[in-house]
Amino acid sequence: MSFPTDLQIARGASLKPIEGVAEQMGLGPHLIEPYGRDVLKIRLEAIDELADRPKAKYVVVSAVTPTPLGEGKTTTTVGLAQAMKHIGRQAVVAVRQPSMGPTFGIKGGAAGGGYAQVVPMETLNLHLTGDFHAVTAAHNMLSALVDNHLHQGNPTGLDPHSIIWRRVLDVNDRALRNVIVGLGTHVDGEPRQTGFDITAASEVMAIFALARSVQDMRERFARVVVGYTAAGDPVTAEDIGGAGAMAVIMREALKPNLLQTLENTPVLVHAGPFGNIAHGNSSVVADLVGIRGGDYLITEAGFGADMGAERFFNIKCRASGLTPDAAVVVATVRALKAHSGRFTIAPGKPLPPELLAESPDDVHAGAANLRKQIENIRLHGVSPVVAINAFPEDHASEHEAIRQIAESIGARAAVCTHFADGGKGATELAEAVAEAAEKPSNFRLLYPDSASLREKIETVATEVYGAEGVDYDRKAARELDRHERNGFGNLPVCIAKTHLSISSDSSLKGAPTGWRLPVREVRTSVGAGFIYPICGDMRTMPGLGATPSAHSIDIDADGEIEGLS
Ligand code: ADP
Ligand code: MG
Repeated sequence: MSFPTDLQIARGASLKPIEGVAEQMGLGPHLIEPYGRDVLKIRLEAIDELADRPKAKYVVVSAVTPTPLGEGKTTTTVGLAQAMKHIGRQAVVAVRQPSMGPTFGIKGGAAGGGYAQVVPMETLNLHLTGDFHAVTAAHNMLSALVDNHLHQGNPTGLDPHSIIWRRVLDVNDRALRNVIVGLGTHVDGEPRQTGFDITAASEVMAIFALARSVQDMRERFARVVVGYTAAGDPVTAEDIGGAGAMAVIMREALKPNLLQTLENTPVLVHAGPFGNIAHGNSSVVADLVGIRGGDYLITEAGFGADMGAERFFNIKCRASGLTPDAAVVVATVRALKAHSGRFTIAPGKPLPPELLAESPDDVHAGAANLRKQIENIRLHGVSPVVAINAFPEDHASEHEAIRQIAESIGARAAVCTHFADGGKGATELAEAVAEAAEKPSNFRLLYPDSASLREKIETVATEVYGAEGVDYDRKAARELDRHERNGFGNLPVCIAKTHLSISSDSSLKGAPTGWRLPVREVRTSVGAGFIYPICGDMRTMPGLGATPSAHSIDIDADGEIEGLS
């Protein structure tokens, strides 16, 4: 019999009543709000009420630079948490909520895979408790207020050509990337060009993920810059009169959602900021709850360690005040072979047959990427452990090659088979993580708030990406000066570049050297609290491919969902 699909495995799960899962984290009935049968929201009072429980070890799961297929961070995050139970420890998982755009686009579901999944996976992948819809509504409420502000006489002097606040929708729809609003007669508003981004790319999403409380979220909304006056002064959501309404729309959404793994480990699923123009990490409030919920809080940071983990450390931990105790770097045979530069892996295509042949040499040829990503964790004073995520087509000699690469620079590595075997397949990893987390944490931020924006960009580019330096286009240099002048220079930077290379050129594999980071423009998420320099083409509204997942997702005769894999 062939290996069952994710959906088949998820359907066969025996779920524990979700109130019981909450109880395991110390969350009594007064701290939970059930949403249907298998999901609940956690009241924010839990953060203070659980404060005297022991603090969990905080573990972030990152990866080598991925191929377009993904190397299994979510799957390993779930598998590792399940494995903790097998070594007598209790873990809590914290992950992002998947965006529905990609679910119906190319990616399919994003709840882990095989015997390491978050359940119920249909609920997770579709709407969950409506948080994304709340983000969409809060964002578009401000958009409506901006256009109304222009229509009603524009008291702030907002320059219609300098408006940066767009609209959002959780659908991959390229036709909405550029639109003209306000067509019609003078009662229909001021015509102007704008566009839609995917909901995950909304600054409201990034704010919701970084806020520590409802009040903090309200204050961050107030600071959102919607555009500039003709003189270049920022106009904020507070100036437009929108921040309070946004906070009201988002109030319920700020409560973290609780689900469980296939082995009944608690899973906090909360917020889903885009990984390329935002920090790509789940919410701070979920972590503030989860850090008191067990022995380990295990969270995933999007993309490779140069992107997700760097932002986890320098943006998310800076905002939350939590300090990580260990980091996992997920590595796969296929990714290291791809980093040899000898093979190309294309999205939606089968792996090239040459890549499937047993060849530890090809794995060794891609070693530079794993070594650099391990170093990127160590730069922040955190102990890395390498998770060798085993795929059915791998060979034992190739796993051994990854282990040798990790051990050659003093990092422990463990082969894990949680995809095929569930938590018991990742017990060696769990032991290694537990050991790494016992070492005293020397966590450090890579740069202080007080460094200039240019210094921050240059620090990340040279130390984390291995660039020789940074080149700013004229536009970028002008914008940096303006942001410093406007008082945004104390914010951390979230560098928007490709996730398919440590460099800014997706075709460069391994750990590229001898290159310079080109910064084309520098945008702001002042409410969320970061500046994002753009290096390359960043899409903030994906399109659909020739055969999107939506074509194969359907309802069967019994009303069950099919095709969500
Ligand atoms: P990431 O979070 O790094 O993007 P995921 O955990 O979502 O990666 O995994 C990417 C894809 O690969 C998913 O479809 C997942 O089910 C699949 N996958 C992950 N690990 C394995 C494995 N060991 N064997 C087979 N498929 C896997
Ligand atoms: Mg993932």
